[in-house]
Amino acid sequence: MKIGIPQKIAIVISLLVIIAGFYYISLISKNTFPYLKSKKEVLESTETTIEDLPKAFCPLCGVQVNENQVFKPIAVMIDNHNAALPHRGVNSACMIIETLAEGGITRLEAFYAHNHPKVVGPVRSARIYFVDFALSYKALLSHCGGSPEALSALFRLPIDLDQIRYSYPYFRDRSRRAPHNLYAQFDRFFTQAKNLGYDLTPVKEPFFMFGEETPISTTTVSKISVPFSSAAYTVSWIYDAQSDTFIRYTKKGKYVDELTNESPKVKNIVIVETKMGVKDNKGRLDIKISGKGKAWFIVGQYLAKGYWQKEIGKPFKFHRESGDEVVFKPGMIWIEILPEFSYPKFSN
Ligand SMILES: [Zn+2]
Repeated sequence: MKIGIPQKIAIVISLLVIIAGFYYISLISKNTFPYLKSKKEVLESTETTIEDLPKAFCPLCGVQVNENQVFKPIAVMIDNHNAALPHRGVNSACMIIETLAEGGITRLEAFYAHNHPKVVGPVRSARIYFVDFALSYKALLSHCGGSPEALSALFRLPIDLDQIRYSYPYFRDRSRRAPHNLYAQFDRFFTQAKNLGYDLTPVKEPFFMFGEETPISTTTVSKISVPFSSAAYTVSWIYDAQSDTFIRYTKKGKYVDELTNESPKVKNIVIVETKMGVKDNKGRLDIKISGKGKAWFIVGQYLAKGYWQKEIGKPFKFHRESGDEVVFKPGMIWIEILPEFSYPKFSN
């Protein structure tokens, strides 16, 4: 086939447009992303160490880690009956949400996105509000059964790691009394999820704002009391200046992770107040987890009042009274969701 002059001109123009396009993209990326190095530059660099690995921030707790350390968030329902203490694997969590289940007993939902323990538990059952939190933070949910409402939601969701349906990650520790003796081997969650075809893409965008610079207020606090129900489930937090963290105490004394015998390093505590009411004859609770309500924030040693906002399936937004979003310190966030009029106490 013979190509005429007009076609030749068209081909030349097209090639010129493509070359100009590549040149423009390279200029843009150099200007906009000056930190981008070419593959050649990286290979020729003699200073490359492990420190030069691409950095990322954990979306849940804001700590800086190597990019390949961030994984798909996993949430685990942890039995918080006093007989279930000490817990295993809580110290590696990025964020923990604690609220009531039935009978005045609290339960924890521990979230992991950049660091995980070998073993976690004891694992207990889910409630619908814990399912919403898992969805809100794009997490897979490890649990053992649940309320009918929670199970019917989870049955249709590609996040379910129910021990009853998928036993592979779980084991019973016969040295502890049932039902407080179900644990999971954390790395098996990923194998199980992969086999089920779940999306394991890590989250890149942070769920909260993080920074080290300005204290949240000028009010310091050294002791916090969080009365969930009876004295048996009142939590106390005491400030430890050396680690700039709050140490948790329960009815059983100082709260430690059985794996390390150390307390979790809690940098941020949020106390959320919301409406709760018993909704069925099993004592299950209806907890209002959307809308807006009162909240307290303890960041480092400083206390500020403010409010929470949330939509179903979306993460919490935390604001100071001024309306500014709360800036947390990079590190563990512990969220206490209390019934209205429970009155947390703060002292120095
Ligand atoms: Zn984290």
